[in-house]
Amino acid sequence: MKTIGLIGGMSWESTAHYYAELNRGIKKNLGGLHSAKILLYSLDFGPIEALQQQGDWHRLGAIMADAAQRLEKSGADCILICTNTMHKLADEVEEAVDIPLIHIADATAQALVQNGIKKAGLLGTAYTMEQTFYKQRLIDKFDLDILIPNEPGRATINRIIYEELCLGKILPESKKAYIDVANRLIEDGVQAIILGCTEIGMLLKQTDIDIFLYDTTLIHAQKAVEWVL
Ligand code: GLU
Repeated sequence: MKTIGLIGGMSWESTAHYYAELNRGIKKNLGGLHSAKILLYSLDFGPIEALQQQGDWHRLGAIMADAAQRLEKSGADCILICTNTMHKLADEVEEAVDIPLIHIADATAQALVQNGIKKAGLLGTAYTMEQTFYKQRLIDKFDLDILIPNEPGRATINRIIYEELCLGKILPESKKAYIDVANRLIEDGVQAIILGCTEIGMLLKQTDIDIFLYDTTLIHAQKAVEWVL
């Protein structure tokens, strides 16, 4: 079995789900006492988030490239960046190593396309919803129509990610706020909602919403399981 390299800690709350999901996936496929071979390089999210706010993506790119190189040197066969937002630096990571990066947006888009989804809503951090690095990849590479919430909706989604979910806080009023934003996207005609932040699945569940949710954490982990096997 190949070894999965994780760049994690962003936040550690979601990285814990990656760890569990990768192991579940291997157990499901191989049975018995089998579990995933994983190398985890877990970063301190405090300074990472501060650099995001300062817009210092150059420094962040160097941190991500260094993390990827450490994993490669330690024997990882592939790299997963355990956050949608930090895929803004996917190119820097790919350039730093000779092992493949399994891209979270590609894995998610492939799942949408396989299920015949053409128009999807995207929930994530403000960086993911508003900048082009993620959305445009879904549009250009996979011909998807992507809708994002309106400005107040995006502010709410983003605030809850950094002030609550990344700290492990799951609040009923925040769940309601997410459901309201998702329902407005449904009124606008989306066929599915992408949980484009690796913590959202902790808050929003399939039973809360009438259309299919695509949880990027689960899809990304499943893609890695397929790849290593
Ligand atoms: N885990 C989050 C994501 O998937 C947000 C934290 C971050 O800024 O990386 O985008």
